[in-house]
Amino acid sequence: LTVLGLESSCDDTGAAVIRHADGAAAEILSNVVAGQGDLHAAFGGVVPEIAARAHTEKLDLCVEQALDAAGVTLDTVDVIAVTAGPGLIGGVLAGVMCAKGLSAGTGLPLVGVNHLAGHALTPRLTDGLAFPYLMLLVSGGHCQFLLVRGPEDYSRLGGTIDDAPGEAFDKTAKLLGLPQPGGPSVEAEAKNGDPRRFAFPRPLLDRPGCDMSFSGLKTALLRARDALVGEKGGLTVQDRADLCAGFQAAVADVLAEKTRRALAVYLNEAPAVPMLSVAGGVAANGTIRTALQSVAETAGAGFSAPPLALCTDNAAMIAWAGLELFRAGRVDDMTLSARPRWPLDQSSAPMLGSGK
Ligand code: ATP
Ligand code: FE
Repeated sequence: LTVLGLESSCDDTGAAVIRHADGAAAEILSNVVAGQGDLHAAFGGVVPEIAARAHTEKLDLCVEQALDAAGVTLDTVDVIAVTAGPGLIGGVLAGVMCAKGLSAGTGLPLVGVNHLAGHALTPRLTDGLAFPYLMLLVSGGHCQFLLVRGPEDYSRLGGTIDDAPGEAFDKTAKLLGLPQPGGPSVEAEAKNGDPRRFAFPRPLLDRPGCDMSFSGLKTALLRARDALVGEKGGLTVQDRADLCAGFQAAVADVLAEKTRRALAVYLNEAPAVPMLSVAGGVAANGTIRTALQSVAETAGAGFSAPPLALCTDNAAMIAWAGLELFRAGRVDDMTLSARPRWPLDQSSAPMLGSGK
């Protein structure tokens, strides 16, 4: 099967072509991502209206580039997959409309994909993971544990009750005057810092379950910064490094402990080959990655982290999820709707307004 995938749920416009034959490894023939960082930079965040317009302008070109780079035409494509939510509704609509146009023009089957399913199924594309596996999705907009049993069968074991860790990294960078995106700059500063100098909280560790909270951490960091500024009028290079190291260690500790608990729930299902997989931009963080890997090993589970380009938003993961759904019998029609909210553990329910 050859699948064309489209992604436009946030600030990256993506188109990709993948190919997969039963029993063989999947091939990513192309994976085009056009970012919009420059368009939103002046506003300090993604502006939904600007994002939607940019997606509308870039989608056609991305599709053309993806087909060209893959060396295929629409005649050799079997399925068109598109992110149908959750996300910024204008962008999702742009993608769904583009996909419907392509499907109507070619007669190819259309499959609406949950963006989170795209992230959650990526380790099957990259490492051929078998169901069930445990996934920690940890990005700028999400933080949740998913027990992945099939392309339409997910259980959410817990997640953040407020900020996502990526968002906390970004806010931390902002508070310390470091460049955006915050994750990489905070990680770079933390390399020279002492993680024990500031006693940052480890929220919700005292409570059972896999839920997490990161907004208090940001407040603690703000207080520590203001105390230093009040004391000596500013931050030294070392202060900044220690604040970053302390913050990062707190995030890593919380994620590690909650992962330990989520793994215990998952291992109850007695998977033949227990695996923990991580996805999302925060999974790029070396300290966090190492902490999670060691938690997995201690629990007797393997660890899989897809390459970063496939961990952050991209269309190859949407094409792959579309392929899995299509194989499972899912096809949508022209009534496919764009959904701003769409929890994954309800994705097995029929799509609102969809033909199936
Ligand atoms: P989503 O895809 O969930 O809607 P998003 O597009 O913001 O959200 P990603 O593109 O997966 O998410 O990841 C971006 C986030 O990852 C940013 O918040 C960024 O700061 C964070 N990030 C990137 N690299 C690192 C790193 N090395 N350490 C920590 N965080 C990082
Ligand atoms: Fe995403």
